[in-house]
Amino acid sequence: MVRHRTGAAEPDGAALLRLEDEAEIYYSDDPRDIGWVLENVPCQTACPAGTNVPAYIWAILEDKHGKSYEINREANVLPGILGRICSRPCESECRHGWPGNGEPVNICHLKRAAADLKHRGHRLNESLYAPSGKTVAIVGAGPAGIAAAHDLSLLGHDVTIFEREQRPGGMLTYGIPEFRLPRDILHEELRNALRLGVALKTGVRFGNGAGEVSLSELRRDFDAVMLAMGCTAPMPLPLRGDESGEAVREIANVEYGFEFLLDLHRGAQKTVGRRVAVVGAGFTALDCARVARRLGAEEIAIHIRTTEEYIPVTKDEIFEAKREGVRLHGLRTPVRLKSDSQGRLAAVEFVQNRLGGWRADGRRKAIPIEGSEFVEPADTLLVAIGQKTVHDALDTPLALDRWGNAEIDERGMTSLEGVFAAGDYVKGASTVIEAVGQGRDVAAGIDAWLMGRPRRKRVVRIEKVARPLRERAFDFIPRQHMPTEPMPERCRSLSEEVETGFDHTLAVEEAKRCYLCNLSYQIDIDNCIYCRACIEVAPKNCIKMVEGVEIRPDGTYGALAETTAWNAVGAIWIDNNECIRCGACYEVCPTRCISITRKDFVMVDV
Ligand SMILES: Cc1cc2nc3c(=O)[nH]c(=O)nc-3n(C[C@H](O)[C@H](O)[C@H](O)COP(=O)(O)OP(=O)(O)OC[C@H]3O[C@@H](n4cnc5c(N)ncnc54)[C@H](O)[C@@H]3O)c2cc1C
Ligand code: SF4
Ligand code: SF4
Ligand code: SF4
Repeated sequence: MVRHRTGAAEPDGAALLRLEDEAEIYYSDDPRDIGWVLENVPCQTACPAGTNVPAYIWAILEDKHGKSYEINREANVLPGILGRICSRPCESECRHGWPGNGEPVNICHLKRAAADLKHRGHRLNESLYAPSGKTVAIVGAGPAGIAAAHDLSLLGHDVTIFEREQRPGGMLTYGIPEFRLPRDILHEELRNALRLGVALKTGVRFGNGAGEVSLSELRRDFDAVMLAMGCTAPMPLPLRGDESGEAVREIANVEYGFEFLLDLHRGAQKTVGRRVAVVGAGFTALDCARVARRLGAEEIAIHIRTTEEYIPVTKDEIFEAKREGVRLHGLRTPVRLKSDSQGRLAAVEFVQNRLGGWRADGRRKAIPIEGSEFVEPADTLLVAIGQKTVHDALDTPLALDRWGNAEIDERGMTSLEGVFAAGDYVKGASTVIEAVGQGRDVAAGIDAWLMGRPRRKRVVRIEKVARPLRERAFDFIPRQHMPTEPMPERCRSLSEEVETGFDHTLAVEEAKRCYLCNLSYQIDIDNCIYCRACIEVAPKNCIKMVEGVEIRPDGTYGALAETTAWNAVGAIWIDNNECIRCGACYEVCPTRCISITRKDFVMVDV
């Protein structure tokens, strides 16, 4: 039976769900149900694209890799790519990594496993809307532009992407090296994302100059415009006596790392010297160092202002870079570049830093120590201290935020009517999954604006589950690690993929570790005989005797009045924040008064 709470519309396919089994299924837009999912499935809440992580991991356990891939693809059209290079904000929130629970689930590598292990003849699911007759121009074929183009084309709009490079993908194609992201995977997923009739115009520059497509033209010729141009300029390196960062361009063998990688991926023959110094602490810096290793450099050092723990890349990246011989030197800032008589780099002068207070972004300040300058010889310097947005391509100015990025409202619209923006162009240099997530959100904003109302909304699908899906023994499985190509073979080419992927056995072992936090355990207190058997077998302080529990209007738990006095017990209550979904209580309860429901976000038409 399918029922609806608070009038949520029945989604397409609900009749099929009814035939699927006899289980009761509800669709709810009650804020308490929405709040329950947001609070209890921390990985999904942390994912900027809202990926239903427990659902795709459960599909891997069922040996349905294609289904797992499709669950991923509903949220993020590039699962095989993100399963390799995602910054993994979900893993830092994973319940399995909470104190006392061990290490987080390897969520990202499971995403890749689903993509790698799906059947070769796998067919994609796409749910097409009728043509709307509306046209949308997107500038930039990076992950933000691609994700938006995909969703807008599904929604029935005619989409054209204008891209200045010869190939789509943005930093996926021109920034991230092939040994981290194989180009066959990249091209296949990009092609699939744009297959539904998106017109891709590559080699076309958006701007003010002759032969370029201007914003005014796009606003005249299309019903809506989306700007997704990313961060196209390197952050300049200020040096003593040269705050502009221009000195970097005047000395031979000194380059901005961002431009170095772009040139390399455009096909230029890049070379480096024997000793390579990299300045910076992000993805670009790590990639420059690892590329330098593969181009033959023998001594490679990354110099960072603070310390290694504040580098905003995954621990795996740092680990692999170190295995490849890259050294990381913390607490130093370059202050001068020294050149030889032929104008080539000879050495870099640094000042030693100490750690200062906390910055607003959660990192530490670096305070230079006066008189601590020292010189280190280097043959090549790659400067990778960040990227920034530039706006000189616009013929009509738009409002910028205090960091100089495009400002948008809750619909994704800039200060110009009908001109939307997403990705790094809005957020500043960020991550692929943030670009994909925002690309999707802004696509929904564009659709609502074009059609005069939102056409889809998020509700919770609630389904009764007949038995625990996990076993207690799963909680003792250690985190499975990604196999890698051995050293030094992997460094012989720029294209040899370092991480070789989980096989079926590793994927299933890792999938077993997931608690499936979308399962909600509840006790029916009318049938409970207060035998305490569930409390005795519980692995944690997850089942509590309470006088009462406050459930806030948004679905989160408020004050909890625990008690041990029998005459005060109002209920035996499962604290889903503590519950690791082991199923032990369900198995032991003599009155079968513990029930399990599964709660998933789904999109429905409105
Ligand atoms: C070297 C490097 C490594 C990275 N590694 C990772 C990683 O491992 N994981 C991660 O999550 N993130 C990583 N990032 C960050 C990530 O790539 C970006 O956050 C993401 O690509 C932003 O997507 P976007 O679509 O907003 O912009 P982009 O990917 O920058 O795409 C913008 C597109 O717009 C086009 N464009 C710009 N100006 C014009 C114009 N005037 N006319 C026409 N087209 C134009 C560009 O050519 C480009 O194709 C890395 C970035 C770099 C540089
Ligand atoms: S245990 Fe599984 S469902 Fe829970 S937060 Fe971690 S990955 Fe997500
Ligand atoms: S399933 Fe039951 S016993 Fe297991 S953690 Fe959750 S509440 Fe505790
Ligand atoms: S095992 Fe069942 S009956 Fe006993 S206290 Fe727990 S929920 Fe109640």
